[in-house]
Formats: sequence, structure tokens, C-alpha cells
Amino acid sequence: MRLPPFAYDRPRDLYEALELLNSYGKDCKVLAGGTDLLVRMKQGLVAPTHLVSLKALSELAEIKETGDGLQIGAAVKLSDILAYQPVQDHWPGLFEAVKAIGAPSIQHFSGTIGGNLCQDNRCQFYDQSKFFRAARQTCNKAGGSTCFAWKGGSDKCHSACQSDSAPILIAMDAKVVIKSKNETRTMPLEELYSSVGERPLTLADNEMLTEILVPAPTPGAGTAFEKLAYRSSIDYAMVSAGAFVQTEGGRTTRVRLVIGAVARGPLSIATVEKTLKNRPAGDQQAINEVAIDAMNTAAAFIANNMTQPVEYRTKMVSVIAKRALTRAAERAISQKGFLEAK
Ligand SMILES: Cc1cc2nc3c(=O)[nH]c(=O)nc-3n(C[C@H](O)[C@H](O)[C@H](O)COP(=O)(O)OP(=O)(O)OC[C@H]3O[C@@H](n4cnc5c(N)ncnc54)[C@H](O)[C@@H]3O)c2cc1C
Repeated sequence: MRLPPFAYDRPRDLYEALELLNSYGKDCKVLAGGTDLLVRMKQGLVAPTHLVSLKALSELAEIKETGDGLQIGAAVKLSDILAYQPVQDHWPGLFEAVKAIGAPSIQHFSGTIGGNLCQDNRCQFYDQSKFFRAARQTCNKAGGSTCFAWKGGSDKCHSACQSDSAPILIAMDAKVVIKSKNETRTMPLEELYSSVGERPLTLADNEMLTEILVPAPTPGAGTAFEKLAYRSSIDYAMVSAGAFVQTEGGRTTRVRLVIGAVARGPLSIATVEKTLKNRPAGDQQAINEVAIDAMNTAAAFIANNMTQPVEYRTKMVSVIAKRALTRAAERAISQKGFLEAK
């Protein structure tokens, strides 16, 4: 498979990059590590006329601890996040999620955190060669009017958000900084996702993700990420879960659970706080209840967009959710940061 023709720009600073995005508009794509975008271009899924590379933007390639937490530039490589000692010491859930992304030899050394959060949704009927797709009617995501992943068809695209870093970052209340030529806005990461399969991000064509802001760890808090994949060394998740548990005096005071790879965007489980709040941290009966809730919530969204059966993935939501919540609670109680996750 060959890349289609395109013009390549390598701006020297963010200002220049935003100028270019503004002038090229919808015909342009940001190129970070290229591990997602270039594959899609080869498959003929996208054909931008211009690529604006982030490679020379040193201001987006920095990761640092600030008084407020962790500040990660959008073009920071996944391998740099894994190597950063404070992430290893204080943000074990984030470390686990980044470590779980694809094949280390490719995704970690080229892939960036911004590219991971901004990658397009996936579906077994869409992420295919032109040849494969030509044998069927055009689906909603490709501009047609059907969905092969939804039983009986649908007028909506039911592709899945496959970012491994999104569930845990959302569970930790991370924020993102979005910039265009004329505006800067900071918003909770979950607002980056539109839950619209055809266009899964809320970014405008002239906007770019520039930073991810992760709150500082608090005493008594724990995080964990779990992923179920066919081959753990390379495959996308069938189901994933990010969990954050805050405890005080051995009881849960705040908790978030976000399920990945099952819906059009990361799926926050709303009932988790009500069920677990004020219960002893790690209480398995309460965690079981939440895990079942998570499964029932996810069941409304899971489509036949991956090769594994819908029924299996649905059941596995409860298992993966339970594991993530249990480990986050254990870390919260023991205040063990990270070594076990390495
Ligand atoms: C074999 C294989 C296995 C993979 N496995 C996984 C996996 O298990 N889990 C997983 O999460 N991903 C996986 N990926 C997808 C991808 O490799 C990773 O998500 C990677 O982190 C993407 O980062 P990148 O810098 O290469 O993104 P790119 O390919 O450069 O960009 C991806 C998309 O994000 C946009 N983008 C990039 N940066 C920005 C920005 N700052 N602002 C706005 N838009 C931006 C691009 O325009 C593009 O549309 C896999 C890919 C392959 C080919």
C-alpha cells in the first residue's frame, strides 16, 4: 500500500503551525508520530492534501511536574512518558495505560500522547483496504448510509474509541489545552470526545491539542488501568478500564471508572460513586455491583465493530472493571505507587 500524494510542512514553532492549520482548514491533518495517520492514509481512509508536522515543535515535546500536577506536551512520545520517573512513582495507572499501547518497538518510540488521544475511531468494517471496502455498500463513517457493525443497520456510525490513554486520564480528571490561531481553551478531557462515530473529536479543523494537564496525586488516592486484548503485545483493546479511587480512613470518598473500546467515546460509569462512596475501600461486594452496572451500561453501546463477539466483550466489561477498581483501591490503601506496575 502506498501513500497518496500530499504537501508536507514542518513548522518551526507553534505559532507557525497554528497559522498553517488555519489557512489549510479541513484539507489538512496534524502529523505527530504518524503511527495511526499514515496507516489510514495508506488504506485510503483519509486523504489530506497537507500534513503539518509537530516534529520540530520543542514546546509540545516537554513533560514536567508542576505544583498542580503533570503537564504533558501533546507531542511527548509515549516512550518518554514511560521513562519519566514521576509518572513511574506517582501515576501508576497512566504508566500502565501507556505501556499497554500497541507494540512497544513502534508505537512507544514514534507514537505521541496527543496522537493517542486524537486517533480516529476504529471498526472492523471500516479500517480495511479500499479493495475490501469496495465489496460492500459505503458505511456511515465513509460517507454512506449504513452501519455493518450494528445489528439491523443504523443511521449512525458505531465505531469504537480505541485510545488506551483516554480512560485513565479521564478517570484522573485530566484537562486538555486546545489552541487555534485566535483562541486557547482548556477543558476536561472527556469534552474532547463527541460520541459521534463519524467525527469522534470536538476539535475544529483549525484547532490542535497542545497539552494534557493531570492533577497532582493526593494522599490516599490510587489509580489503575486494565486492558483485554487478543495479543497483549500489539493489539487494540477489546475492552479497557481506567479507575481512580480516593480514600480517607480506609473508606472510599471519590471514585471514577471509565470504560474504553466499547463505545463511540470513552464511557464514564455514572453509578460508580453512588455505590462505592463511604464503603470500605476495596469492598469486593460493592465493586462487584459496580462491575455489573458497568457491563449493563456498556451493553447498550457495544457493536460488532471488532472481530471478537459482542457477547464476550460485554461480559468481559465486568471483569476488566472489577480488576481496575480493585487494584486502584489496593494502591489507595497501601499508598504503594508504582513498582508493582513496572
Ligand atoms: C499495529 C498498531 C497497533 C496499535 N495499537 C494501539 C493500541 O493498542 N492502543 C492505542 O491506543 N493505539 C494503538 N495504535 C494506534 C497508534 O499507534 C497510537 O495511538 C499512537 O499513540 C498514535 O500516536 P501518533 O503520534 O503516532 O499519532 P498520529 O498517527 O500522528 O496521529 C493520529 C491522529 O491524531 C491527530 N493528531 C495527532 N496529534 C494531534 C494534536 N496534537 N492535535 C490534534 N490532532 C492530533 C492526527 O491528525 C491523526 O488524525 C496502534 C497502531 C498500530 C498501527
